[in-house]
Amino acid sequence: MTKLAIMGAMEEEIEPLLAYFDNVQVVEFAKNKYYEVEYNGLNIVVAYSKIGKVFASLTAATLIEKFDCDTLLFSGVAGGINPELNIGDLIIADKLCQHDLDITAFGHPCGYVPGGNVFVETSKELNAIAKIVAHENNIKVIEGTIATGDQFVHSNERKTFIENNFNADALEMEGASVAVVCDALNVPCFILRAISDTADMDAGFDFDEFLKSSAKNSADYLIKIINKLNK
Ligand code: SAH
Repeated sequence: MTKLAIMGAMEEEIEPLLAYFDNVQVVEFAKNKYYEVEYNGLNIVVAYSKIGKVFASLTAATLIEKFDCDTLLFSGVAGGINPELNIGDLIIADKLCQHDLDITAFGHPCGYVPGGNVFVETSKELNAIAKIVAHENNIKVIEGTIATGDQFVHSNERKTFIENNFNADALEMEGASVAVVCDALNVPCFILRAISDTADMDAGFDFDEFLKSSAKNSADYLIKIINKLNK
């Protein structure tokens, strides 16, 4: 039987997901809480990692190695780059990169280190299911590139750098690290984000204003996808 991992970075991102579940068991491990639940005949473990690539990698690896999850779904919020993405809109990542990984001093491309790749891909099968669910429910979602780094981007300068280097549609602080862990451990990975801000001067203000509503948009869509996985 499939054992699903569902991740967010912040408590606000998993709250609207946990609201769907009853009889949640809390397990503490590695200074974090893991929420185990049975839902529609699926075993699910939910966790928020805390912000940034290191915490997200730790949580993703823990969900897979300690809790034996064999599929990982991420739900959360992101800054929009693609002008088609307005606040509240949904994006699923077909590939992700680390925009702050930089050994360009040695002639390598930005985002690359030996033994890795600039881009890591997510599961085509999960993305296909997500697109079917979107179509069936009349949900607007785009599939695109997400850039991840350990910084909250709130300037046009940094946003343009990320757009020019990676042709990214959105940016956030965890997705690529989760996808790298899943790729290494051979676990299908799905990264979903709803736009909370557009990574410009107003990003901090917008983020605070729209975190909750955008996190809920992402969670509501993810639940529909989970319901479909079980059919
Ligand atoms: N307000 C929070 C910090 C939020 S950091 C606090 O004070 O604790 C932003 C979070 O949302 C990260 O988890 C990241 O993945 C995502 N995110 C949304 N907009 C972003 C942006 N413009 N730049 C980087 N990450 C962003």
